[in-house]
Amino acid sequence: MSSLNSNDGSLVEVIGLKKYFPARGDWFAQMLDRRQIKAVDGISFSVPTGTTLGLVGESGSGKTTTGRLIARLTKPTAGQVRYKSKDIAPVSGRQLKGLRRSVQMIFQDPSSSLNRRKTAGQIVKEPLRIHELVSKQAMESRLVELMEMVGLSHHFLNRYPHEMSGGQRQRVGIARALAVEPEFVICDEPVTALDVSIQAQILNLLMDLQDQLDLTYLFIAHDLSVVKHVSDRVAVMYLGKIVEIADTDALFSDPKHPYSRALLGAIPRPDPRAGKRMVLHGEVPSPINPPSGCRFHPRCPEQIGEICWQKEPDGITLPNGTSVACHLYADEGR
Ligand code: SF4
Repeated sequence: MSSLNSNDGSLVEVIGLKKYFPARGDWFAQMLDRRQIKAVDGISFSVPTGTTLGLVGESGSGKTTTGRLIARLTKPTAGQVRYKSKDIAPVSGRQLKGLRRSVQMIFQDPSSSLNRRKTAGQIVKEPLRIHELVSKQAMESRLVELMEMVGLSHHFLNRYPHEMSGGQRQRVGIARALAVEPEFVICDEPVTALDVSIQAQILNLLMDLQDQLDLTYLFIAHDLSVVKHVSDRVAVMYLGKIVEIADTDALFSDPKHPYSRALLGAIPRPDPRAGKRMVLHGEVPSPINPPSGCRFHPRCPEQIGEICWQKEPDGITLPNGTSVACHLYADEGR
């Protein structure tokens, strides 16, 4: 969807990005099976400085791989990630170290992303040491400052992950990510593993920190209701493709793509008399052999005939600024 890639002042731009993995693990299996998993298959978007882009879709849609490509934890098969207008693929040495500092990740499961054998203080200290950001004398006060920033007292510096609740562990994960003063933070399902009662606290913390520290976020979630409160814009992913990008209010009040409508239909509503919901049936197809034409066509209740299974829809920008890849809107682009 090249039409999605138009922002000035973007901190991050993703242009025609693809990531294919071999379908089988070791080299011998790969010799026998040349098929590829098309985890990310030609996506484009941009994230303006100081904003949050929500990235949503079901499990297997390619959201996490997209986050890992932007963080340069894996290299693309094709396409580019540009950070401050520069392609990050050839970056190495000191520049890569600088990129690693500027782009941080907050992970889904704080239990597995924190080292069980280290105290919170040791965990948060590690990136400060690697990037040589704080002198030995100033280290203790910086650690206390970081803990307070995420709502934890200095007593937590001596606690191990198993001595903390899930919400407290996630706060330590956030402190670790923010220790190096990043500009761009990829939040990969940061509240999915937490109790519902704790989720809102962590979301509020992330929004407060964004204001305080001028952060830019990519917020990955499978649940649209989670991204609603934190995102300026939302990109909806399905089977390696972005099918819609819209301002958050526009997406929630008037979703255009049938898949976006189905995802919204899955959010519980307080009034059971509110209009009819679209229910999504079936599983996400295999990314090894995605459906022809529109990848959503086997599950789409609104398909309009053979064009849907024969031709892949182009991204179209509608008059309200929403970009959508669906043949229903073939005559409405601007
Ligand atoms: Fe449904 Fe056709 Fe639109 Fe795909 S292109 S979402 S099958 S209507």
